[in-house]
Amino acid sequence: MYDIAIIGGGPAGLSAAITARARNKEVLIISNPAEENPLAASKLVDNYPGMPGATGLHLLTTMHAQAHRAGTKFLQARAISVVPMSGGEPLQTSFSVTTSSDYVEARSLIIACGAASGGKPLKGEREYLGRGVSYCATCDGMLYRSSTVLIAGLSHEAADEADFMAELGATVHYVAEDLPPSLDARVQRHRGRLLAIEGDSLGVTHARIAERPAESPRGPELENKTTASLRDEPKELELAVHGVFILRPGIALTTLLPSLATDGGYLKVDAQMRTNLEGVFAAGDCTGRPLQVAKAVGEGQVAVLSAVEYLRA
Ligand SMILES: Cc1cc2nc3c(=O)[nH]c(=O)nc-3n(C[C@H](O)[C@H](O)[C@H](O)COP(=O)(O)OP(=O)(O)OC[C@H]3O[C@@H](n4cnc5c(N)ncnc54)[C@H](O)[C@@H]3O)c2cc1C
Repeated sequence: MYDIAIIGGGPAGLSAAITARARNKEVLIISNPAEENPLAASKLVDNYPGMPGATGLHLLTTMHAQAHRAGTKFLQARAISVVPMSGGEPLQTSFSVTTSSDYVEARSLIIACGAASGGKPLKGEREYLGRGVSYCATCDGMLYRSSTVLIAGLSHEAADEADFMAELGATVHYVAEDLPPSLDARVQRHRGRLLAIEGDSLGVTHARIAERPAESPRGPELENKTTASLRDEPKELELAVHGVFILRPGIALTTLLPSLATDGGYLKVDAQMRTNLEGVFAAGDCTGRPLQVAKAVGEGQVAVLSAVEYLRA
C-alpha cells in the first residue's frame, strides 16, 4: 500500500514524486519510459528556467534521476483502471489501480497523464469495449486464447503483448506504422494502422485496417518520388477477428476513472489541484492550458502537498 500513486511520469508526475519523498511519503510512479513521453521528441526546450537549451529528453531523464535518487519507486506500465475502495476502521478510502503488468494499491492518487494520453477513440472502440475491445492482453488475453485477435501497436509494450497472445495459441495480427524487429514468428505483421472495429450484437467480428506494402521503396536509384509514394499507398483491408487490443501509451481519462469530472476534455480541479473525488488530485497538461513544463512542475508540487494534507487529515 503506497501513500501516493502517480499515474504519468512526465514533468508533473516527477515533480510531485520529488516533493512526496521530501515529505517522507511512499510514492510510486506508473508510466511508460521517458523516451516515450511526448516531450522527448523536442530538440530544444528553451523556456524552462535554469536549464536553457536542454532537449526534452535531457530534461526528462534529469528529473527522472532526481526522483529516483530521492527514493521514488517506478512501475513501467500503463494504468488501465482505478477503483476506489472503502473500508477499515475508521472508514478509509484507498485506490486499487489495475495496470498492464500488476495491481497497485495506494491511499491517494495523483493523475499526471498528460494531455493526449488516451488518443482519439477509433470508430467502434467505445461501442465494443468489453465486447471484444480491450486495452490489456495480459489482463484479458485468456478469453481469446483460441481466437483470432488484432493488436494495434501504438506503444512499446504492444509487441510483448502480441507475443504473449501467440504463446496462448491465438491467431494474431499485429498492426503498426513501425513494425518492431523482433516479433514472434507466428504473428502476422501489417505495416499500417487500425481504422475501425465492426461487429454485431454479440461483439467484434471484423477490423478494418489501412495496410502499406511491407517495405517502402528506398534509395535515389529507385524511380522518382511520385512513383515511390504511389507504391507506398495504403490499401484498406478487412480482417475477421474476435478481439481487438488497442495498446496506446495511455488510457482515456473517462475510461481510467469514469466518475472523474472533466471540462472540455481536461480534468476539473480547484486551486489545490483537487479533483471532484476525495483523495484524487491531478496536475500538468491533463488539467488544461497552458500546456507547458513549468506549469506542469508547479502543479505537481501543489497536488502532492494537497495529497499530503489529505493523508494527514
Ligand atoms: C514536441 C513537443 C515540444 C514541446 N516543447 C515545449 C517547450 O519548449 N516548452 C514547454 O514548456 N513545453 C513544451 N512542450 C509541452 C510539454 O511537453 C508538456 O507541457 C509537459 O510535458 C506536460 O507534462 P505532464 O507531466 O503534464 O505530461 P506528459 O509530459 O505528457 O507526461 C505524461 C506521461 O504519462 C503517460 N501516461 C498517460 N496515460 C498513462 C497511463 N494510463 N498509464 C501510465 N502512463 C500514462 C504518458 O504517456 C506520458 O509519458 C512540448 C511538447 C511537445 C510534444
